[in-house]
Amino acid sequence: MTHDALVNDAPEPLTAWCVHCGRRTSAPVEVGVMERGSSAPLIQYACPEDAVRYGAGPSPADEIR
Ligand SMILES: [Zn+2]
Repeated sequence: MTHDALVNDAPEPLTAWCVHCGRRTSAPVEVGVMERGSSAPLIQYACPEDAVRYGAGPSPADEIR
């Protein structure tokens, strides 16, 4: 096994572009799914800072129990 093989076999880190600010984040939060009819749904992600804008994360409803 070569060094290159080790590098190429390494799993890709989970990254995605934030739908709000457009920055790439290594900790994407799923904030929605865009149905595209005939093709597979497109999952939308946001960075942790912007995820709260889309209702992800703690909400008032979660705290009232
Ligand atoms: Zn963002």
